[in-house]
Amino acid sequence: MILLTGGAGYIGLHSAVALIEAGHEVVLFDNFSNSKPEGVRRLVKIVGREVACVEGDVRSASDMAAVFARYSIDAVIHFAGLKAVGESVEQPLRYYDNNVAGTLVLLAAMQQAGVRRIVFSSSATVYGAPDFSPIPESAALRPANTYGRTKLMVEEILRDLHASAPDWSVALLRYFNPVGAHSSGQIGEDPSGIPNNLMPFVAQVAVGRRAELNVFGGDYPTPDGTGVRDYIHVMDLADGHRAAVDRVLGDPRDVLTVNLGTGVGYSVLDLVRAFERACCRPIPYRIALRRPGDVPASWGDPSLAGQQLQWTARRSLDDMCRDSWNWQKQNPDGFA
Ligand code: NAD
Ligand code: UDP
Repeated sequence: MILLTGGAGYIGLHSAVALIEAGHEVVLFDNFSNSKPEGVRRLVKIVGREVACVEGDVRSASDMAAVFARYSIDAVIHFAGLKAVGESVEQPLRYYDNNVAGTLVLLAAMQQAGVRRIVFSSSATVYGAPDFSPIPESAALRPANTYGRTKLMVEEILRDLHASAPDWSVALLRYFNPVGAHSSGQIGEDPSGIPNNLMPFVAQVAVGRRAELNVFGGDYPTPDGTGVRDYIHVMDLADGHRAAVDRVLGDPRDVLTVNLGTGVGYSVLDLVRAFERACCRPIPYRIALRRPGDVPASWGDPSLAGQQLQWTARRSLDDMCRDSWNWQKQNPDGFA
């Protein structure tokens, strides 16, 4: 059985679909600080069977011990964490507590239970402003904000743990920009408040919840002046987790660090145009000031994941926009 901490969140629910469809048993563990039980009910609808779900906090040693006592866990995917960059700068202690201290409690519980296989949700934010793209895993690691530092710290904790106890099997997955939704439109990204990220903001403009998109910067040294990113369909990412779980279950007893991206960069305006094609309506936008801390361009080199996990992203930007729109139009207010 695979334990998914933060399993009721955006990437957790989509990964649960991929894992269950590949024949794995999963148990979701979440404190619902950034997700809703309705998401889990939708997952059950998609897969057509019950899914074990435990409400609890990774920072609670007793909550963690109870999960490992109740279920026979073979491996953990550790999604649980806070992910808003701006908030992490304003509330560093809360971020270090959830993301770093929470991971320490989880790892102690795993050690106690004799579970030594883990897949961790890292992020391309560990690279900070890259010297060049596509970014290989060997690039310099210099996160530019608190959130990115929490991710790098957990990577280092896991590398140290493996160095001390080589029977651990670890996969560190550095995600680029996950977007899109399951093709059913039953689950998708449901940010609370005003979306920080581009795709959910565009989707809310399309559905009429927001008047227009602010494009943060039109004067970057990119082909059209707007920021370039590596958007990856969340179901491709989910499949990457399936591949990473299969790898750690094989007990490689190493630490694999891989980028999960498409290897292709698209600009903000590329994404806006693709979304307009998907929703068949104009997306009003205006060019605004650059957002502090943003890098002009960042996309990943996913070739190592291809070699090590036999995984590659298959879905196009049009697929991402079509599925985001399908989710948004069926659920204009998310899971509410
Ligand atoms: P999400 O917020 O939708 O999911 C995270 C889940 O973790 C939520 O359901 C939340 O309730 C839960 N959670 C948070 N703190 C917890 C705690 N202390 N105990 C138990 N549950 C807790 O976010 P997501 O987009 O699904 O991201 C999943 C992971 O991937 C996160 O670690 C995030 O940092 C990482 N990541 C996300 C992105 C992205 O753009 N979405 C990019 C790179 C990395
Ligand atoms: N962006 C934008 N308007 C928004 C949100 C984002 O123009 O309302 C731009 C942002 O400047 C960046 C790209 O869209 O160039 C992706 O931003 P997002 O926050 O989704 O991801 P990240 O910055 O973490 O890569």
